[in-house]
Amino acid sequence: MSELVLVINAGSSSIKFSLFETSAADPIVLFKGQMEGLYVEPKFSAKDAADNKVANETLPSDAPKNHDYALRYMLNWLESRIEGRSIAVIGHRVVHGGTTYSKPELVTPEVIAGLEALIPLAPLHEPHNITPIRVLEELLPNVPQVTCFDTAFHTTQPELNQLFALPYEFSQKEGIRRYGFHGLSYEYIASVLPEIDTRAAEGRTVVAHLGNGSSMAGLLGGRCQLTTMGFTALDGLPMGTRCGRIDAGVVLHLMNHLKMDAKQIETLLYKESGLLGLSGFSSDMRDLENSDSPRAKLAVEYFASSVVREAASLAAAIGGMDALVFTAGIGENDANTRKAVCHQLRWLGVELDEAANAVRSSEPRRISLADSKIAVYVIPTNEELMIARQALACIA
Ligand code: ADP
Repeated sequence: MSELVLVINAGSSSIKFSLFETSAADPIVLFKGQMEGLYVEPKFSAKDAADNKVANETLPSDAPKNHDYALRYMLNWLESRIEGRSIAVIGHRVVHGGTTYSKPELVTPEVIAGLEALIPLAPLHEPHNITPIRVLEELLPNVPQVTCFDTAFHTTQPELNQLFALPYEFSQKEGIRRYGFHGLSYEYIASVLPEIDTRAAEGRTVVAHLGNGSSMAGLLGGRCQLTTMGFTALDGLPMGTRCGRIDAGVVLHLMNHLKMDAKQIETLLYKESGLLGLSGFSSDMRDLENSDSPRAKLAVEYFASSVVREAASLAAAIGGMDALVFTAGIGENDANTRKAVCHQLRWLGVELDEAANAVRSSEPRRISLADSKIAVYVIPTNEELMIARQALACIA
């Protein structure tokens, strides 16, 4: 008998879910959807396995606007679709596992206390990951829950790559170190690489997760050695609205000279910078590429050149590069960004196959020429599937 796995990815204003069935070797999706605009105008939408819209509802204006009600609504909807079958396990995406969690954990009162202790490290995200665990514990008390961490994959980074050059006590006592994020995406890519290219899977691979949030990681034998995000998800590459790598002195200047307070600086760095800040009108790569504005062009060039610099830096950290993998929204769909990056990495041994790069597909594919020293791939990521697999493995 097949089992059902529910995957929950909760943020501050939305809750995404995927329901998987596990009759095959790998879980397959039955439904996926989300509740958006949680505290403003909650909207529920869902798709079935064939990508058909099967729900698209705005909640009544007097409906409670919070995570608790949204989860109850979502669960009611799911229960009406699964015809008496029960959910075997729930997997949660949790942003921060700190130094405590380097693998998925079965939820216990101790684990919840452990997650609460990590709130200071991710105050904007961790509380929203914990709330659904509590609510579902109440709604489905007999269903085990598993936490899957975005930081866990990066705990294999050598200490050298986890440190900032602050006094050493800051990393030991305050936990101020480079944790890295997007770990579930990297873990998925590492899990499929052996079927695609054994040399890349066993060797030196740089993965570029380029989406609204973007980061890159250098893997040796499928294990993370270094990643571009650090203490928070602000570091490294510029993103839709986040600035990426910035001189810490800029923050001091904003405070001391421009008299901005912490909240204003947080808004500037997280919500008003990146592609949006440079272009002045959009955080969406598609808008920028369809625009004639010189600032849109500048934003697109800044993004690609940042990917190039980080790729070279990661390659140096892992002793070279056998393969480069593009994934996530921009990495999977934007042939122009891939082309710009690959052309600027020619000196390192990347030879792009332009025709292969231009093909649109949702399948993993090679986009470098046969004699390219560095093999280049586009591999669609699947964080939800990774969570479903981890949740199942944890209760097995
Ligand atoms: P998130 O980090 O929110 O999961 P995604 O991985 O979905 O983000 O990536 C969103 C980004 O992908 C947006 O900047 C969007 O413009 C970009 N994107 C999606 N499709 C295309 C496309 N065909 N061409 C260029 N960019 C694209």
